[in-house]
Amino acid sequence: MFSQETIKKIRNQFPILNQKVYSNPLVYIDNAATTQKPLQVIQASKNYYSTMNSNIHRGLHFFSQKATLHVEKVRKKIQKFIHAKYPYEIIFTKGATEAINLVASSITSFIKKGDEIIISYLEHHSNIVPWQILCEKREALLKIIPIDKDGILQLEDFEFLISEKTKIVAINHISNVLGIINPIKKIIDISHEYGALVLIDGAQAISNLCLNVQDINTDFYVFSAHKMYGPTGIGVLYGKKKILENFSPYQVGGEMIKEVSFEKTTYSDLPFKFEAGTPNIEGIIVWGAAIDFVEKIGIKNIESYKEKLFIYAIKRLSDIDGIQLYGKNDPKKRSSIISFNLSKLHCFDVGSILDRLGIAVRTGHLCAHPLMNFFNVTGMIRASFSIYNTFKEIDYLFESLLKAKKFLLKKRNFL
Ligand SMILES: *Cc1c(COP(=O)(O)O)cnc(C)c1O
Repeated sequence: MFSQETIKKIRNQFPILNQKVYSNPLVYIDNAATTQKPLQVIQASKNYYSTMNSNIHRGLHFFSQKATLHVEKVRKKIQKFIHAKYPYEIIFTKGATEAINLVASSITSFIKKGDEIIISYLEHHSNIVPWQILCEKREALLKIIPIDKDGILQLEDFEFLISEKTKIVAINHISNVLGIINPIKKIIDISHEYGALVLIDGAQAISNLCLNVQDINTDFYVFSAHKMYGPTGIGVLYGKKKILENFSPYQVGGEMIKEVSFEKTTYSDLPFKFEAGTPNIEGIIVWGAAIDFVEKIGIKNIESYKEKLFIYAIKRLSDIDGIQLYGKNDPKKRSSIISFNLSKLHCFDVGSILDRLGIAVRTGHLCAHPLMNFFNVTGMIRASFSIYNTFKEIDYLFESLLKAKKFLLKKRNFL
């Protein structure tokens, strides 16, 4: 495991972590919402605009070719990072959300009345609403895999729900609320037995574990750059070549694509068929620097350090009287996301006090209304850790929660 000395060196690469919040040092533990960016990523952005800004795949001139080359290099880098078979199975999108919308939109013509789509209770709104709308449009049925009180997906129920009518199963790899790593390999294998396609929402998993899309044999996998130290506004849809080739374009009609192809026939091939318009060129190129950052540290090292943070945080937080922690506490099957509530206090009240003390956590429904309803709460407080967080910050979170509780309970008794 990394020493705190090494972590300090990594921390020093994140200038924002030196900022103060109401004169307290910033403790940034909202990494499941977005991670901070290291110097090499910030530098790559400046470098792009200073040395190669140009539109891609269009011009013959030097800079256009330079930018195109760099974009295609990052596509290959991502292909290697997730172990995809071909670079053109990597489609650039705005993020995980757009990637799911792309699939839900392009699959529409294959969905008939009475077909079924399966998601789970654990999904982010991005992996619920596109399927709901698709079902309404095609008079298909949306089915939900239940969970138990610890947030574990009920696979027997899944086997009961799935049938030849199931056209697509869409599940997250790691829940953004509970941090639980779902048994996606099993779900993919079962789905394929029934001829259903599978989309895995990997928004939380991409910076947390070694991914091999060919090993897990998923049909689609989606993620965003900004949750893995990269910029916002850029993400990827991975899709198997054979399936993507049969899909129609997402944002422009096929006819339009053909018109464009009078000048540039390459447009109709993968991946360009799904990348209409000028993409986020800067975002793609800068993302390359973020992947370099992750690979230099090593995703396995990141994973094991975050596991240590998780174990320590759970241990400390469990000592707080009146804390309600959600999700099964199994470090081997969790990423370092911890959602909780404190003594029936409102999560916004607790969150505001933490903010005053310099701690950035996420509070509220966490883009997962159905899961909040399941646990019978309106919101939760979520602490999520990254490679630059320290055990000392967890101690500070612990002390600050005690302070918040004392203050709010006193106020409640007074009112
Ligand atoms: C963040 C997140 C999304 C949405 O990602 P965007 O980058 O906002 O498109 C979807 N699913 C999960 C599990 C997430 O954590």
